[in-house]
Amino acid sequence: MESYFLPAERLGEFVGHLAKFGKIYRCEQTESGPRIKLVQEKDYGEWNFPAVRTDEPAKYLFIKAKRKIAEYFDDKWRKITIEEEPKVIIGLKGCDLAAIKIWDKVFREDEQYKDPFYIAARENALLVGADCTGITPYCFCNLLGNGPYPAEGEFDLSLSPVEGGFVLFVGTERGKKALEGFSLSPAPAEALQKIESRRRELARKLDEQNAKYKTDTSWRELVEKNPDSPAWAKHGATCVACAACTYVCPTCFCFQIYDTVRPDGKYERFIALDSCKYPRFSFMAGGLNPRGKLVERFKHRYNHKFFHYHWRYEIYACTGCGRCIENCMGAIDMRETLKSVEVMKETAKTEA
Ligand code: SF4
Ligand code: SF4
Repeated sequence: MESYFLPAERLGEFVGHLAKFGKIYRCEQTESGPRIKLVQEKDYGEWNFPAVRTDEPAKYLFIKAKRKIAEYFDDKWRKITIEEEPKVIIGLKGCDLAAIKIWDKVFREDEQYKDPFYIAARENALLVGADCTGITPYCFCNLLGNGPYPAEGEFDLSLSPVEGGFVLFVGTERGKKALEGFSLSPAPAEALQKIESRRRELARKLDEQNAKYKTDTSWRELVEKNPDSPAWAKHGATCVACAACTYVCPTCFCFQIYDTVRPDGKYERFIALDSCKYPRFSFMAGGLNPRGKLVERFKHRYNHKFFHYHWRYEIYACTGCGRCIENCMGAIDMRETLKSVEVMKETAKTEA
């Protein structure tokens, strides 16, 4: 992979160069934690580099929590014109880039579910990744086969901090084109070695942190084959259906579509983010609700991420970012739930 050295004093110039391709959004360490910020020109050269992924997922740069998708005027439905402002998103960690790939599988690549709004936002965004330089107690990307750095094929450009600046990796043709007209020297071998050893050290820390959650059986098999495990009720017992886990999740995409009538008699159709944790999410005409019980909704989220999504796209719909653990009102840890399904399965075998 092509790599260059970007001296710290040229950061502002570099970001200014990228600003030709869209508004600059950047993951920044702020007083309230790592956050995604819209960056003003005067701040291009000042980057408080965050060690870990931001509190909020990047999905809100690609979708709106609520958006009008059609209007019913003059006795016919009229599509909305799609206008997406170009964006450059700098500093996305490996788990958030992996989440974009997960969304792409559904809303960009699957003929059945292609979403023109998502595609427009996605294709108007230049993705600039960044290495993690630390981990949180909630991170478990390693259990999903990911690492604490942007994976090849998931970023256009990527930055890894080193002494005196950054190593800039070029991931796609688009990234290469974006660099045209901005000359840099190749990255020194010593800087690349240091990045490698930092990546190895962080991967070792993640392995150590998550060793106790490793399972012998794949998560797909655990979820698919154990729908009646007592682990679901045990771990779901403290869930209060607040839906925080789904709103902070970079891969959750449950939505609803509804129509409203305006005072002038015209109709409008909206799409809005929803959550499978809400009691009425699966409510059907006729009054049937297959997931009326909280435990069923709790289990459904695991089913979606580790069984159904894997069955259809052969990857898990989870990146191990740990936001759902960090923000859960019920102190529920997805890693513990999955481990428990395995442990309880083994206990039941021994008792039989
Ligand atoms: S964040 Fe926790 S308590 Fe809230 S819905 Fe999700 S699992 Fe339940
Ligand atoms: S399920 Fe939890 S750990 Fe997995 S991607 Fe969503 S928020 Fe992150």
